[in-house]
Amino acid sequence: MNEGELTGQVRTHVADVHDPECILHMHVAAPFLSLRRAALADGIDLTPISSFRSFSRQLAIWNGKFSGEKPVLDASSRPIEVRGLSPGERIETILLWSALPGASRHHWGTDLDLIDTQATAPDYRPRLTPEEFAPGGPYAPLAGWLEANAARFGFFRPFRGILSGVQPEPWHFSFAPVAENARRALTPAVLHKAIAAAPILGKEEILAQLEALHARYVAAIDWP
Ligand SMILES: [Zn+2]
Repeated sequence: MNEGELTGQVRTHVADVHDPECILHMHVAAPFLSLRRAALADGIDLTPISSFRSFSRQLAIWNGKFSGEKPVLDASSRPIEVRGLSPGERIETILLWSALPGASRHHWGTDLDLIDTQATAPDYRPRLTPEEFAPGGPYAPLAGWLEANAARFGFFRPFRGILSGVQPEPWHFSFAPVAENARRALTPAVLHKAIAAAPILGKEEILAQLEALHARYVAAIDWP
């Protein structure tokens, strides 16, 4: 992937998939569809609710949260008012659950947020909280199935709350053979260039601590 692809500023590396609807890296679509077929055979309707996400979309999410217009959650998934926080505190809080624009693994088309559409009533709105995937939650069987089977298809969970600074996200899976190359190629210098050129709130503070943010939220991931 080139710098524009690594930071989600172009879409030359991704393609539309129609069943199920998602946008994936051209080398991830086939392995994902194999994973989905295996899940279906076990009664799980594995469906992505997020796949490729562009830089501009991540920028809108970031600026919405930084300004307090979009809800921000604390480490326990409870809403927190960011307007009373310093810029540095806002950055730290937003990064619990959201990536910096340019630093989202969703830019690569290798990562998906997964649910089981058969596990809930049709009008259920997934919130993507750890409780939904924990024992007793609607997606607990999905989480168990993925834990047991995803690796056979090349997928793993990068966010387990161990090494990565991102909170544990049992719904977020990544296709390692392509994503690992992207993770190594997305250096602090590449990320710096993308952020410096964007109208992002908190830019000065972000750039001042970019090396540390990169180390904690991009370079550090959790392997099984
Ligand atoms: Zn995700």
